[in-house]
Amino acid sequence: MVIPAYNEEKTIKNTLISYAGFLKDSFDKFEIIAVNDGSTDHTLREIIDFGCVKVISYSQNRGKGYAVKRGVLMATGDYIFFTDADCSFAPDNIRNAVLIMEKGLAKGVVGIRENRDSEYSLSRRILSAGLKKLLGVVLKIDNPDTQCGFKGFEKKTAKQLFSRTRVWDFGFDIELIYMSEILKIKLEKLPVTFRHRRESKVNPFLEIWRILRDIFIIKSKGVLGGNANKI
Ligand code: UDP
Ligand code: MG
Repeated sequence: MVIPAYNEEKTIKNTLISYAGFLKDSFDKFEIIAVNDGSTDHTLREIIDFGCVKVISYSQNRGKGYAVKRGVLMATGDYIFFTDADCSFAPDNIRNAVLIMEKGLAKGVVGIRENRDSEYSLSRRILSAGLKKLLGVVLKIDNPDTQCGFKGFEKKTAKQLFSRTRVWDFGFDIELIYMSEILKIKLEKLPVTFRHRRESKVNPFLEIWRILRDIFIIKSKGVLGGNANKI
């Protein structure tokens, strides 16, 4: 389980408690990798005090996409998941996701937030609706919730996809899904319950420009070329 964290001193400890508890009860072996993405608060101290997790930490804030990439490339488990540090997604979603992959129904599972609309502001909902339309037209992506913060993959698929991602901020989810479609990797959509725990770090108006830039990068550079391994 990879957990990216940027200024999450108030939330990270409870998230680690609930994920570690669930994983311990449900699997013989597991690892949690917490990635401190250049936090300026006490996130790193909270992670270290909790113990029992592998830690990646660097001083400059680089974005969720970069943080998740670093964590996934370090991960060793048969199934590699990532989720948000504010525990927006209940850990037991992992059980259904692993079952889907164990049965061979898909190489990865992407969450779809069922109750998203009731949890977000109007501006964020307008941004999401616009993004969905744009992704359908420009990248031919058929996914109603590319930005969902709960996703998991078989190890080989996770490494294959994340060794190629180049988008460092929130657009990396789009790149992942686009790449899977190009590479014909089957991902199953899993409805997940979502609880918006605290103020988002997403500024909808700033994010519009970043995501447009990311879509341009994804579309123009394709998924196979470039120096994608360099991080
Ligand atoms: N995050 C990160 N680096 C950043 C911004 C966010 O690692 O520069 C992490 C954040 O700590 C959280 C996840 O990405 O674990 C999702 O961020 P947030 O909750 O702000 O986004 P939202 O839930 O609104 O999509
Ligand atoms: Mg969040």
